[in-house]
Amino acid sequence: MRGSHIVVPRLYAHDRCYLLQNSDDRIVFVIPYEENFSLIGTTDREHQESLNQVTISKDEAQYLCASVNDYFNSSISPEDIVWSYSAVRPLFDDGSADAKSITRDYRITSETDGTGAPLISVLGGKITTYRKLAEDVLSEVNQALGVTSEGWTGSSPLPGGSFDFLRFDNEVEQLKQDYPFLSHSHAHRLMRLYGSLSRGILGDAMTYRELGRFFGGNLYENEVRYLMENEWAMSVEDILWRRTKEGLNLSDSEVRTLSDFLKEIISEADSSSDDGEALAGSSTVQSAT
Ligand SMILES: Cc1cc2nc3c(=O)[nH]c(=O)nc-3n(C[C@H](O)[C@H](O)[C@H](O)COP(=O)(O)OP(=O)(O)OC[C@H]3O[C@@H](n4cnc5c(N)ncnc54)[C@H](O)[C@@H]3O)c2cc1C
Repeated sequence: MRGSHIVVPRLYAHDRCYLLQNSDDRIVFVIPYEENFSLIGTTDREHQESLNQVTISKDEAQYLCASVNDYFNSSISPEDIVWSYSAVRPLFDDGSADAKSITRDYRITSETDGTGAPLISVLGGKITTYRKLAEDVLSEVNQALGVTSEGWTGSSPLPGGSFDFLRFDNEVEQLKQDYPFLSHSHAHRLMRLYGSLSRGILGDAMTYRELGRFFGGNLYENEVRYLMENEWAMSVEDILWRRTKEGLNLSDSEVRTLSDFLKEIISEADSSSDDGEALAGSSTVQSAT
């Protein structure tokens, strides 16, 4: 089943979400997105096309706009969409009559012919439950190996997240105190994406100039290099859409400048590894070609 989301200029100022009950018994959410946008989703359409071509249809765009228009004072149309993204859900066929009734939970199956290792398959799943899913898979593995181990991820923070999330705003303020040149929106975005690891990106910088080249939005060279060196980013899409959403804030010419910069540092890394010496801190940068 294909699900699509649309992003439009921010529909309201506060930071809460809406769940809109549709007449077709589905719900549509509206969520504040990045700083200046609202995210609206999702749809549920049977995907008949190729899996290499997963994009929102006109009909889905209209459906999402119509849901908003049923409830909000301000109305939107497909022309207001600044970005959209779609993906195909692998849903477990549990015999439900229609797509919206099929469970969105994951299923784990373990098959064996009794002679070798079992084949463990994961069907469906959510980002929000991935650690639970991983523990469930490991308990299948434990069973196959005849060992026991305790789950530990329930109390282990994600990288950069070892602070009380209720004190998020204080963490942003602390980052601004440590780096007084940062704008509030920049500090907020860094803390939201990287948490305490933001300091690893900002390093010793005490001015914007010391963050390196500026690419638009509030994206600077330090962050781009960090993403390439630590989060396997290799392309403009990785940086602007997969690791950050700064694609919403860059103009076409800024995207081209970033693209040229990536080519430069990838070829620098390639030539230094040809010489047998990796660029300091760039050893994980790989050519996308
Ligand atoms: C429309 C939609 C809405 C969703 N909404 C939510 C939500 O609100 N909350 C939530 O928690 N979850 C949501 N999910 C589920 C969530 O997106 C997935 O659970 C999550 O992305 C799974 O992560 P993953 O890394 O296991 O797999 P994926 O994100 O699917 O990543 C697998 C990657 O492997 C690549 N790949 C596949 N085959 C190969 C190959 N042979 N060689 C190299 N690369 C390959 C793929 O291109 C892909 O990039 C949603 C899913 C969809 C489709």
